[in-house]
This record gives sequence, C-alpha cells and structure tokens, in this order.
Amino acid sequence: MSSVSPIQIPSRLPLLLTHEGVLLPGSTMRTSVDSARNLQLVRNRLLKGTSLQSTILGVIPNTPDPANDAQDLPPLHRIGTAALAVQVVGSNWPKPHYTLLITGLCRFQIVQVLKEKPYPIAEVEQLDRLEEFPNTCKTREELGELSEQFYKYAVQILDAVSLEERFKMTIPLLVRQIEGLKLLQKTRKPKQDDDKRVIAIRPIRRVTHIPGALEDDDEDEDNDDIVMLEKKIRTSSMPEQAHKVCVKEIKRLKKMPQSMPEYALTRNYLELMVELPWNKSTTDRLDIRAARILLDNDHYAMEKLKKRVLEYLAVRQLKNNLKGPILCFVGPPGVGKTSVGRSVAKTLGREFHRIALGGVCDQSDIRGHRRTYVGSMPGRIINGLKTVGVNNPVFLLDEVDKLGKSLQGDPAAALLEVLDPEQNHNFTDHYLNVAFDLSQVLFIATANTTATIPAALLDRMEIIQVPGYTQEEKIEIAHRHLIPKQLEQHGLTPQQIQIPQVTTLDIITRYTREAGVRSLDRKFGAICRAVAVKVAEGQHKGAKLDRSDASEGEGCKEHILEDAKPESISDATDLALPPEMPILIDFHALKDILGPPMYEMEVSQRLSQPGVAIGLAWTPLGGEIMFVEASRMDGEGQLTLTGQLGDVMKESAHLAISWLRSNAKKYQLTNAFGSFDLLDNTDIHLHFPAGAVMKDGPSAGVTIVTCLASLFSGRLVRSDVAMTGEITLRGLVLPVGGIKDKVLAAHRAGLKQIIIPRRNEKDLEGIPGNVRQDLSFVTASCLDEVLDAAFDGGFTVKTRPGLLNSKL
Ligand code: ADP
Repeated sequence: MSSVSPIQIPSRLPLLLTHEGVLLPGSTMRTSVDSARNLQLVRNRLLKGTSLQSTILGVIPNTPDPANDAQDLPPLHRIGTAALAVQVVGSNWPKPHYTLLITGLCRFQIVQVLKEKPYPIAEVEQLDRLEEFPNTCKTREELGELSEQFYKYAVQILDAVSLEERFKMTIPLLVRQIEGLKLLQKTRKPKQDDDKRVIAIRPIRRVTHIPGALEDDDEDEDNDDIVMLEKKIRTSSMPEQAHKVCVKEIKRLKKMPQSMPEYALTRNYLELMVELPWNKSTTDRLDIRAARILLDNDHYAMEKLKKRVLEYLAVRQLKNNLKGPILCFVGPPGVGKTSVGRSVAKTLGREFHRIALGGVCDQSDIRGHRRTYVGSMPGRIINGLKTVGVNNPVFLLDEVDKLGKSLQGDPAAALLEVLDPEQNHNFTDHYLNVAFDLSQVLFIATANTTATIPAALLDRMEIIQVPGYTQEEKIEIAHRHLIPKQLEQHGLTPQQIQIPQVTTLDIITRYTREAGVRSLDRKFGAICRAVAVKVAEGQHKGAKLDRSDASEGEGCKEHILEDAKPESISDATDLALPPEMPILIDFHALKDILGPPMYEMEVSQRLSQPGVAIGLAWTPLGGEIMFVEASRMDGEGQLTLTGQLGDVMKESAHLAISWLRSNAKKYQLTNAFGSFDLLDNTDIHLHFPAGAVMKDGPSAGVTIVTCLASLFSGRLVRSDVAMTGEITLRGLVLPVGGIKDKVLAAHRAGLKQIIIPRRNEKDLEGIPGNVRQDLSFVTASCLDEVLDAAFDGGFTVKTRPGLLNSKL
C-alpha cells in the first residue's frame, strides 16, 4: 500500500486566486469564492457534470485588490499549489458565493498564462512529486489558520521549493506555535480532562516527529483512538477492497490536523467501516412446525397470510437461498403486517429492523450521500445494518407505496438495486463508496395499496393481501393479544382489571372506525393508564378499590371507576376488607375514560329524506361507507359537485345523470316543473360528505344513480342498503375492486343489504361466514336491478299508458 505511484498533475490548470491564506501541499483549507472570475471557474470546472474528485485547480495566493478584481488579471504569483476540490457549498446569502474545501497536492510554477477570461488558465510545471508525501510529513505541516501577519511568511514557504530551504523557513514558525502550546497547557493544567479546546492547536503535534525538534510526549487520547481504529481496521474481516480503502483513509487521517473539518468526516467514516457487520451473521434456525406455532400464537386469523409465509419459509429452507420474489404485505393500517414481519425474524432467529419509507423522496435516503457533501450520511440500508450488527437481518421495508420522487433522484430505482438478487451482493452506498453484500438480508415489504407502488418494484414482489378484520375477529384479537399486551405494559394483572367482550364491542363500534386494530389497541392503552392510576392510588392508601361493592355481598358487576369514590376507599382502609377485586370496565367506565362515543349510528337519520344513498368506497385505509347526497334547484341545467372528488367521480356523475335523463319517462321521473327533461330549468348539486377519505370514483356510479332517482322520484332509499358498482351509459353495472373491504365496512356500519355488480359475485367467497350471515346480497348486472333493490317495493314502474299520457 505504501508505494504510491507518481501522480502527474495536468499541464494546464485553471487558476483560482485566493486571498484568504496560502494553501500548502498536504494541507486543506476552506476558501470563499465570490469574485466573478472565481465564480465562473467553480461553475465551469466543478459544477458542470464532471466528478469532483478528478478536478484539480491551480491555487495562487493573491493579495486582495478590489480595484483590480472585475477587470484585468492582477500580476500573478509565480508559484502556486495544485489542489483538489473536496467540497463545494453554494449559498445566495448575503450574496452569491461558494465555499470550497480544497486540499493542496503539490507545488507548481506558472510557465505561461494561456487564457485570461473568464478565468485564467495557465500552462504549469509540476514542482513536487506527489508520491513523496506519505513519507515526508515534515514538509507538510498544516500551519493552522494563517492570520494576516503570516501571509507573507507563508508565501515564502510556498516558494521554498527545496526541502532544506523550506525547513529553515518553517522552524521559527513551528517553535512559535510550540511556545504558544506550552503556555496554553500551563494555564490549563488543573483541568486536564477538558481537552476539547486543545483541538485548535493540535496541528502542532506532528512537530514532535521532526528530528531534533522539541520532544513533547504529551500523547493525547485522540491519538490512542486512532491507534485503536487502525488496529480495528487491521483485525476487521471486511473484504479486501474495503480494507484497502480504510488503510488509505487512515493514513490520510493520521496526517490531517484535527481542526480540519475533513478530519471528523474521515474518522466517522472509518468508525462506520469497522463497525459494519461485513462478516457477522446469525445462524438461521428454522423449524417449520415451530414457525407455524409461533405465527399462530402471535396472530389471530389472517390464515392466508400465515400460510403463504410458511410456504415461503419452507421453500427457503429446502433451497437454502433467498432468491425469489420479495414478499409484500398489502392492507390497511393496523392489520398486523409489521407484526408478521417481526414474527418471521423471530422464527428464523434473525435480527429485525424496520425501515420506514413513507415520504422518502431522495435516493440518497436509500443509497447515502457522497462524502463530499456537508453532513453526508450513509443511506438507511447501511445504517440499518450498523444498527442490527449482523449482515443477515430481516429488513421490513415499510410503506413502499409511499415512496416519493424528487429532483434528488428516484428512490424506487435505488431500492430496486437493493432488492435485485443479481445486483445486491454488490450494493454500493455512496457514502461507503465500497460494495457491501446484501444478499443475505431478507427483505419484506408492506404497503397500504399496490396502486402507487412503482411498477418495476411491484414486478419484483409477491403481493399478499391482508384485508381488514370483522368485528368478531377484532374482539378475538383484542382479548387474545391486545389486552394481555397492554396489561403487561402497564404492570396490571387480570386481578386488577377486567374488560368484558361487550365493552370491547362498544369500543370497536362506537369509539373506532378502522379496518385494522390500531386505534382499538390505543383505546385499551388509555383504559389501562386510567386503571393503573386508580390501582396505584389504591395501593398507596392501602385501600381496596372495590370495597363498597364487595361488602354488598354478591357480584362485582358495579366495580366501575365512578364507584371508586374517595369515601369508599377510606372506608375500605378502616375495614381492610374484603380481598381486592378487579375493576370492571363497563359502559360507564368507558365513557369516563374515553369520553362520549365518537361514532353513533347516523345512518337512518341521514336517509330520512329523498336524495340520499349509501355507497361503499375502498380506500388504502380499508373500506368506508359513503353518503351521497343530491339536491335540485331552479337553474340552467348545471351540475355542481362538492366533497373530495376526482375527475373520475365527475364522469360517474355525468353518466348517471345522462342515463336517468334518458330513462326519465320509463321511471316517471320529473323535475320540479313536471318535465321529463330533468335538467330543464334545473340545477343539480351532488355532495359526498364525510369527505376526509380518498374515494374511488367509478364504483360510486350506482350510488349516484340511486341517489338521483330518489331525488327525482321523491322516494326514500332503504336505510339499510349500501351499494357499489361502476355504470355505463347504457345502464350496465360493471365490476369493481375491494369488495371484501367494502362489505366489512357496511357490516361495521350495521347495514343489512348490499348491492354489488353480478360479476363480483365470486369475491363474496372471501367474506367470513358470520358476516355473510348478517347480510343479504343483491347482485345486479343492470341499473334496473339496482334500483329495484334499493327502494322498498322495487322501483320499476309498470308502464300504464294512461298515466304516461296524462303527464304528457
Ligand atoms: P400494520 O403493520 O399492518 O400497520 P401492525 O403490525 O403494526 O400493523 O399491528 C398493529 C397492532 O395490532 C400490533 O400490536 C399487532 O400485534 C396487532 N395485531 C394486528 N393484527 C393482529 C392479529 N391478527 N393478531 C394479533 N395481533 C394483531
């Protein structure tokens, strides 16, 4: 590693004139760029597509001369330093400027200025050989921030091409620095451990290596850290390529003054490199039978998902590799997708790590920033590996459907690389800049909907739908899993609190409206917190909360919070009787803790006038019932739509109106003026209230027709009917998606009859038996059938010529 081949700098260099100090080879400095000339140089040479690393500039010290800046080139100092731009930071405040971080490579001498505008370019001759640097550190001391008075001196050092001459020049400076250091140390002796401020003068440390110079063996901790770091690099099991990079970087680090921003950057980098689990993994233990038991124990219902996960694990066990599609669990929030992912890790004995992708719109989130950026960091994949400390964890890519896109590149493309078994053994994070093998990582993805997953990504995944739960399933999940977990988290026992199933049902129907069980779980959390307070208070006073009821002889029915009045508690203390009994959470306690119910049945109230119908919508959060309302007024045939609607909804509305207009006679529908031309002097207003959810447009077609039919006929739609279906201009009903979620939503809302498109009949198979029992289904292939089912006694009017004529 130590033999560095001689590097040649280009024979032509763009010249950066700086007046902020003198850059010496081997040192690094920040320089502000604001003159027109230098700005041009930065834009053309550093920011136009070419990679920063390969960009070498000639840095010439230049005494500031504002009068000269805009116009002619000032007389140039003959010798300069070729430098690498390590970092460019731009800002517009207080005026446009860049800050460059440049590292000096070697001296050069200007042979001839070839071009002056827009920035000077010169033919140069290289004076130092780059290869000398690693071994001749004495020539390359960073002199700290050279203040004005050192400027002249520094230029002389720059000009001192011969080593001896340069040495002579620097010694007085260094001695001076050492004196300063000694002084500082003296003043600081009493509090030695406070070594933070010493950083400012650390560059001097390497002076001690100069033969004959003052030996000051104050080895500081940082130095030890670097030795440790070096040792870790030596003993690390990282691949050869990574190892090489580390060796190179640590060499650089050792020669860098600690005051330099790059010092911390490089050190952080190296620390990450030695920390990464290049070769560390857990041993898989997979016993399919045990896996099944574990999955069953941890998760109620979700049979399809559990079955597929077991198959996946079994195949993996037989094939002993991970190639194949990535499993992606798709379903509403709180249905246990993450939880199953965690179980998969548990069955395999692997580490688990969740990577939230919601809102990620910059590819560097996945792949890291290049180290040339300020505040650069590795991406989430590498970060995750560092966190888990092994190279074969289960990574749960949460919410792949919420990946964004931005100017900073497409994160989906980066993710694709991560997931592709052909590529991911060589995954290169921009920050690491060396490949890391991801092939042992087991990826599982989750999403609320497949609609927004980028197609290429979708292609790599096997989608497993996880639908919402029925009320019955929720009750089971609550009592088998959620309540016990919450009790444990709050340090409560079943001897202290009891939540009967009717209470759970109450919470499900009146305090939550969701497909999953997340809010339900939170409500239990709230209940446990309230009870914990009561129990703790009771214990504190040595009281039995339930004394008053227990002394009444029988039941524990009334052990609600309201009854735990202070008086009864003090009574209990006196009597110290009887044994503690659980606090029962009944309806009153529920109201006390959670407040009044949030969702009361409003269905029948809302359907008490013509022009309202209930539709079923699918949203990424599960199914929803949706009230469609219509009203009519005098006007010029305008249609107004309000609520949250897409263009598709508008189309459905127009289709519905057109179909009704063309069938007005058949159904005896007239406007306020008795005309079959429904829009004659009439405006229609359609509203989709409770509009907080995204609605899927086309499936509202049948609902809009029913709602308008009700409006123009003056008849009420049955209050226990909900419907879904797309329509055509000719009155056919087309199939729609999300039937199961929609049916569950209707069931949650207590509706009894559901009208679905005939071609969706097969989807009813997936609906749990108990839900089906509670509901009756009407399948319709045309709008006549929908209307007949939606109105009591049917809607079709037997054509009676007499009646028709009389209306005409
Ligand atoms: P998701 O990832 O789908 O949003 P989570 O996995 O975070 O959902 O689940 C939310 C909570 O509900 C977790 O505590 C989880 O254990 C619980 N949960 C969800 N479904 C079930 C189930 N079928 N059986 C047991 N617990 C469940």
